Order: sequence, then structure tokens, then C-alpha cells
Amino acid sequence: MKNNLSNIKKAIKYLNNNECIGIPTETVYGLAGNAYSDLATLKIFRLKKRPKKNPLIVHYSNLQDLKKDCEINNLFLKLYKKYSPGPISFVLKLKKTSKISNNVTNGKKTLAVRFPKHQLTRRLLKKLNYPLAAPSANISKRISPVCKDDVEDEFGKKLKFILDGGRSQIGLESTIISLVDKPEILRLGGFDKKKIKRHIDKKYYKKIGKNKILVPGQGKTHYSPGIPMRLNAINIRKNEAFLLIKKRKERNKNFFYLSKNKNIKEIAKNLYRTLRKVKKSGYKVLAIEKIPKKGIGETINDRLIRAAKKL
Ligand code: AMP
Ligand code: MG
Repeated sequence: MKNNLSNIKKAIKYLNNNECIGIPTETVYGLAGNAYSDLATLKIFRLKKRPKKNPLIVHYSNLQDLKKDCEINNLFLKLYKKYSPGPISFVLKLKKTSKISNNVTNGKKTLAVRFPKHQLTRRLLKKLNYPLAAPSANISKRISPVCKDDVEDEFGKKLKFILDGGRSQIGLESTIISLVDKPEILRLGGFDKKKIKRHIDKKYYKKIGKNKILVPGQGKTHYSPGIPMRLNAINIRKNEAFLLIKKRKERNKNFFYLSKNKNIKEIAKNLYRTLRKVKKSGYKVLAIEKIPKKGIGETINDRLIRAAKKL
């Protein structure tokens, strides 16, 4: 606790100086900077080697602060009250009076926002007088980090500080829903989209399920571990790493378990960490068992298909 407090103080100091830092969230770790600062947000793009046209998600601790930057509507309020803080990002209309840096939106009139649940980051946000722009803390197109070591792995000494909040509990990026016009899911994520459907008029149901490529994060190659992947594998081939979702009796040093018994939340939490571990262990090919499509299993399958595409 004491340690946390001094680390939060350090984080504030860096952020107030327009530096970027790593922050923990329940989805994945973020690369955070003052969302009102042109300099801090420019640094985020540079560090990540992120194309300028790919806008950033901005993180808030409360509704009053968000209202300074965005227009809100009834559906947003309903979903916010029910599911925030949590792994759901909303795209809203930007207010003309907003102080959000143009770098964040790439000049768009909309803004993606989220209220992260991780306690440490919530405490940090409450102490700042600006929101944090924070995309995932990885080099563009690579796997998102789910702990401090992963962030170090991505940026090494280029990043001055990482707030250590342990392992990300969900392990997948947030679900993004646009509420600018008709509600629309832009990216599947760590939030079960069925829960969103419950609150939306039936006439929009079809639209929500469509899963078109609407945001840059939904490009064909993304979330890549940097080695070829064989999906829906049944058995292991020579020299492959094999990711399994259920314990097997047979022992093999090339087996990596994502879960003991097909628990989808456990699989999600362990996925990126395991992909990273396998890559670092020097395997040249990675095979992975079929993952059930139920709940956030749909998101995991979405990510794996993108990750398996050739770089
Ligand atoms: P991440 O790097 O995981 O934070 O990715 C953020 C995602 O949010 C990207 O795919 C962005 O394209 C998307 N995004 C951010 N802002 C907007 C916006 N205003 N409209 C649509 N998508 C957005
Ligand atoms: Mg990302």
C-alpha cells in the first residue's frame, strides 16, 4: 500500500512532465500520457510506432470529467451505469469545447472513452486534472502486454516508468461500441457483447452482430506473436509449442496450458502471456487447440485468426 502510494506519486510526476508511462488496467497494460497534451500524445504514437490515423482511447475516472469532453446520450448513461468501470469503451461525439489533443482523434469529431476498473489506475486518474490517452502498451500490431515485464519487453529503456499493478485480470482488450449514431460494435473485446444487446432496441440487434472491420485495430494482421501459428490443432507436431485448453495425462515439455479445464476466462487471461513466453523460448511454430466460441471465446477466436495471418 505504502509502496503503491509512492509509485502513484512517481507516475503523476512523469505524466505532469508530458512523459508517457505504463499503467495497469484489467484488460491489458496501457501506454499512458496526458490526453490534453500534444507533446505527450505525440510521444505515445512515436513509442508505439502507431500510424497517426489510428485514434487513441481516453481513460477517465468519473462521469463529470468525461462530460467536459464528450456529448452523452441516454443509451450511454444506461450502459455506463451498468457496466462502468469495466472492459467496455464507448465512442461518443466530441464537444467543441473539449481540450483533447488533436493527435488523439486524428482530427475526428468523435472520441473513444473508457473507465478502467483497476484500482491503482483509478486512484491515479482521480489525482490528475486531465484524462489519460492510453492505447495498449505494445509496439503496433504486436501482442498486448498483460504485466509489467511484458511492457518492459516491448519498450525496454525507452519507457521511463511502469506502474506495477500485477497481472491484468481479463487479459483481452476492451470491447468498443460506437454510440455516435446507431449503436455499433467496432471491436470485440473482454466484455461479453450479449450483455450490451440486452439494453438495445431489438431493431438494432442485427447491426450489432455484424462484426465488420471498422477500426484499424480490426485490420487483418494484428496481435501477432511473430511466429507462424497453427489453429484448431488436435495433436502436436515435432518441435512445435502446443497450447492446450484442458489438462492431458500425457506429459510433454512442449505443452503449455491456458486452462486446466476449458475455463474461457482463464484461457483469456493466460493467452497473451503464453504466446509471449513461447516466442521468447525460441519455438519456431506454435499450435493451438480449438477454443470454444462461447462468450468472450468469440473475441479469443477473433484475435487468433488475426494473429495467425502472415506478417
Ligand atoms: P488500442 O490500441 O487497443 O487502445 O486500440 C484502440 C482502438 O480504438 C483502435 O482500434 C482505434 O481505431 C479505436 N478508436 C479509438 N478512437 C476511435 C474513434 N473515435 N472512433 C472509432 N474508433 C476509435
Ligand atoms: Mg492495441
